Amino acid sequence: MNYCKKCVMPDTKPGLKFDTSGVCFACINAEKKTKINWQKRNKLLHKICNEIRGKNKNGYDCVVPVSGGKDSMYQTYMMSKIYNLKVLAVSVPQHCQTEEGIENLNSLVTNLNVDLIKVTIRHKTHKKLRLIGLKEMGNPSYSEHKSVFAGVTRVALNFKVPLVVWGEDIGVEFGGNVDKKSSKEGLADDLINNDLFADVSFSEFVKNRIPKNELYFYNHPDIKEFKNHKVKTIYLSHFHNWDGYKNFKLAMKFGFTGRKKGPLSGNILNYDNIDEKLCEMHIWIKMLKYGFWRPTDQSCYHIWNRRMTREEGVENVLKKQYEFPYEYLKDFLDYHSLKEGEFMDELENWRNKDIWVKKNRKWRLKNEIS
Ligand SMILES: [Zn+2]
Repeated sequence: MNYCKKCVMPDTKPGLKFDTSGVCFACINAEKKTKINWQKRNKLLHKICNEIRGKNKNGYDCVVPVSGGKDSMYQTYMMSKIYNLKVLAVSVPQHCQTEEGIENLNSLVTNLNVDLIKVTIRHKTHKKLRLIGLKEMGNPSYSEHKSVFAGVTRVALNFKVPLVVWGEDIGVEFGGNVDKKSSKEGLADDLINNDLFADVSFSEFVKNRIPKNELYFYNHPDIKEFKNHKVKTIYLSHFHNWDGYKNFKLAMKFGFTGRKKGPLSGNILNYDNIDEKLCEMHIWIKMLKYGFWRPTDQSCYHIWNRRMTREEGVENVLKKQYEFPYEYLKDFLDYHSLKEGEFMDELENWRNKDIWVKKNRKWRLKNEIS
């Protein structure tokens, strides 16, 4: 396990490449972003919006997926106020929403003056899929990602909305392939195959386990259906210089609140993944598998945007990385009907012994960042 020389990301991050001098592609992409002609891309988005505005007669021009986080607020603001589209906000809320997440979603509807549709997946199916994901892949949120993409796009198709505006192209922002077709045009068509960190395809995952009639909001509509209905899906981050911290500042103006009790264990920010409770444990499993989680991700984000030095990032990581996310442990156990001991044993199955070692009866990374 080695770390990037410019930020604090380790080379265990799936899909992240490094150049020969030991700098990660996320850092290289962050540098490239400063040279992009954003004005030109901004004009391009105006052109796309001008072409579709009002085409859906009395219907909506644009679907914006929202959750109750800062980015939801930013995307909705941009598309409704700056690009002047009639926005339909669509939420596929996860089942353990936080108080702040619910309040933020209400503020979004009230203060940005848009309609909101919620797609709520039946509990039994959701819980079963999460448990299979946890036990077989160490990835309890696997099916959730599918339901968000599928739920949002199905609503867009049903309401004949010509444009779906996703936020951040994670593949580009976090060091993936910047030369893929979608990154040139900002198209989000690749979300259809976006099985985040997946070892198996979703169809294999659910085969003979979940009846087909329970999977409508998990299965993304066929790409041909999109083309037939002339639905375009794009990433806003392709057209505007995406910066979560700036989104947070803007969202505050429209009533967004961060976590009232301050940052969760392991976190340095109080506004990251504010909307629900089950994700935190999912991210902790990332720490067991790959040796990094929240403090690394959050420090990197500030380093890439030149608000933090690498030294400060290293300090954050060393201080925070072993903090267990106990705050939502009980919610996690209750939701999945798991006993604490049983769950702790399950977690140990995902600890990667190549990178972890026991020192003085405590698990520590063999190669800590310095
Ligand atoms: Zn880096």
